[in-house]
Amino acid sequence: MRGPAIHRTIDLASRYLFPTYARAPIVIVSGRGCRVVDADGREYLDLLGGIAVNALGHAHPRILEALREATESDETILHCSNLYHHPFQAPLAARLAELLDLPRVFFCNSGSEAIEAALKIARARARRTKGDEALGIVALEGSFHGRTAFALSATGRDDYRAPFGPLVENVAFVPPDDARALTRAVTRRTAAVLLEPVQGEGGVQPIDDAVLKAARTACDDVGALLIADEVQCGLGRTGAWSACRQSGVAPDLITLAKPLAAGLPLGAVVGREELAVDLGPGMHGSTFGGGPLPCRLALAFLDAVDGEGLLDAVAARGRQLIEGLQSLASRHGVLRKVRGRGLMIGVEMEQPVEPILDRLRDRGILAGSAGGNVLRLLPPFVVSVEEIDRFLDTFDGVLTLDATTGDRNAAAGVPEAGGRS
Ligand code: PMP
Repeated sequence: MRGPAIHRTIDLASRYLFPTYARAPIVIVSGRGCRVVDADGREYLDLLGGIAVNALGHAHPRILEALREATESDETILHCSNLYHHPFQAPLAARLAELLDLPRVFFCNSGSEAIEAALKIARARARRTKGDEALGIVALEGSFHGRTAFALSATGRDDYRAPFGPLVENVAFVPPDDARALTRAVTRRTAAVLLEPVQGEGGVQPIDDAVLKAARTACDDVGALLIADEVQCGLGRTGAWSACRQSGVAPDLITLAKPLAAGLPLGAVVGREELAVDLGPGMHGSTFGGGPLPCRLALAFLDAVDGEGLLDAVAARGRQLIEGLQSLASRHGVLRKVRGRGLMIGVEMEQPVEPILDRLRDRGILAGSAGGNVLRLLPPFVVSVEEIDRFLDTFDGVLTLDATTGDRNAAAGVPEAGGRS
């Protein structure tokens, strides 16, 4: 792609797409591992990994092999509907059931759809077992569960919900760090508690084990379901197949999506055996959910995480990153707090992170944000020791430059640099 074609692509996007995303002005065309290349031939270290989708990085050999196998026949089936079996969906369900110790699986195409399915199961079950009065959902403030109507209704962000009301009724929100408030909110009228074991969009906030345990106990006391939304924090991201189980709490349902099919759309809800009757024939469905190619890639993804020891790698690289960031925080006052689990890390800053992200990108590093003041890192599980060191050095340089520019501006009586570059 040449300069004019790049400009044309960006110009077409600004003219023809709904402006739902503030895209950075680069066109990404290829990549391998944690490296991506833009249309100008510039390389970047990708530490956002498609917002947790590219857990194996880019062009992972096992994924390429699965793709090649899928296309080598000239009678390849890309779709056959969910009215028939194909060779990959049921084995994938069995694999997920075993890894997460929850034996029933429903496949869909995204995180939001997995949340819709989980909440529908919870409501249908509550109606069946407790009657029409027990349909309440308890969720956490600051949570993010998706953009479809039910998922948005359970998302604890007023600004996200406000433009679209009236939404689904009977959802209550409690602070994410208050086990007693949560326990009080769960009553016999509650169908389910929905929470992210590590809140992602809400600023990378790990939920205390005590809150998770209180949620489990409260649900058991009233016969409600505990739903762990692991769309972002699940499938290895925290160094375990399930972030909730890693905290010693067994949920009734787990929602999955992002990394599952290594870049193709695939979501899933996995749940307890006795919930199978609550999503019976005709009650729910998905035309594309669990198609042959995404399921085939998902099996390759799980094989790679398992076969290449990536859960241990996530834990080790996560420690390296957290310790490195903590050391930077001891020298740079603008870094207020470093938090996270495994390779899901947030750095709370004293200032908006957008200008910092621009400066990192100018120096060949892609990172993200979670809320205005939190820098978010979701590196591929295959990120190397050297790549993390490179990021830490570059971030150090950006912060040092910022500090000296700020000092000079302060001495000259001008406002600190802070706007979007
Ligand atoms: N739940 C969580 C925890 C998420 O992080 C997201 C996406 N950021 C969703 C649900 C929604 O997923 P999707 O965008 O695939 O619908």
